[in-house]
Amino acid sequence: MNMYDAKELERLLSLEDEKSLLELYEQADKVRRKYVGDAILLRGLIEFSNYCGKYCYYCGLNATNRSLERYRLTKEEILDSVSQIAAADIKTVVLQSGENPMLRPEWLAGLIKDIKSRYEIAVTLSVGERPREDYKLWKDAGADRYLLKIETSDKKLYNSLHYGMDFENRLRCLRDLKGLGYETGSGIMVGLPGQTLRSIANDILFFKEWDFDMIGIGPFIPHGKTPLAGKQAGDVNLVLKTLALTRIVTKRANLPATTALGSLGKDFRVEGLKAGANVLMPNFTPAPYKKLYEIYPNKRCISESTGACAPCMGSIAASIGRTIA
Ligand code: SAH
Repeated sequence: MNMYDAKELERLLSLEDEKSLLELYEQADKVRRKYVGDAILLRGLIEFSNYCGKYCYYCGLNATNRSLERYRLTKEEILDSVSQIAAADIKTVVLQSGENPMLRPEWLAGLIKDIKSRYEIAVTLSVGERPREDYKLWKDAGADRYLLKIETSDKKLYNSLHYGMDFENRLRCLRDLKGLGYETGSGIMVGLPGQTLRSIANDILFFKEWDFDMIGIGPFIPHGKTPLAGKQAGDVNLVLKTLALTRIVTKRANLPATTALGSLGKDFRVEGLKAGANVLMPNFTPAPYKKLYEIYPNKRCISESTGACAPCMGSIAASIGRTIA
């Protein structure tokens, strides 16, 4: 018998009293310490373009948002940010963007090669759904990891939030990435309109079944220029419960305390780190562009100068008796 079947996970996700919540977070914290230790892993994030041709109903970058000024960093600007990440002694760079059909796969392959030839650094890509041949080209160029959130593993909910996209293709992408040997990351948003506790319980089982290397879990935050404007944001405690249960069930996966969790008025990333998370993703997008990568409003620290996040990570870690890897 599985201790954590969908019914039991749903019950745990519905816990509300403070004592039960603290117990759950403490249990997750113990599992985290035992399996991945006290050192927090840092991933330097570069949001290199906000051009997007997709219609995800929750995302401020979606193609119908004509009021957003679009940008794309040059190769030189990206390499400059990578040099700052390397100088901060961070061992992984994450290259993320909207889904631009005009992105030339050869251009990105060239960039990956440049980065790998200059630095001893892992390259993580997060540029959405692409054909297998692009994923292969980038893997051959030296890319190590890929992040593609499933967003929700509930097929009906997924298809209702993604106009013109298909859940099956998302799964195809994840299968291709794993098959090509990428360390593959996925994840979900918590509090999506129409999402049930049972659906989140199934997401946690989905993470276990797919055995992802990294799992990003953050609150849904409504953006005014999307079809979900005015909807309720995800509940912090529900995000923390999901994070904690994901830690307990997957044991070894790398779980970031996401920027979205840090953007709900207060910085709840610390609570995330105490409920199972072991990764932080400081933002190294050049300052003038940071605020334009507006997937949701009031994103954390967008007015800080480039690279200002790195020292901040040390103080977060110290405040809870943890270290930086
Ligand atoms: N185009 C890439 C990167 C997307 S942005 C891709 O599809 O993988 C990175 C993540 O931001 C998304 O996977 C989604 O989980 C999150 N996101 C987008 N809009 C959001 C919102 N309104 N609230 C919270 N998270 C959001």
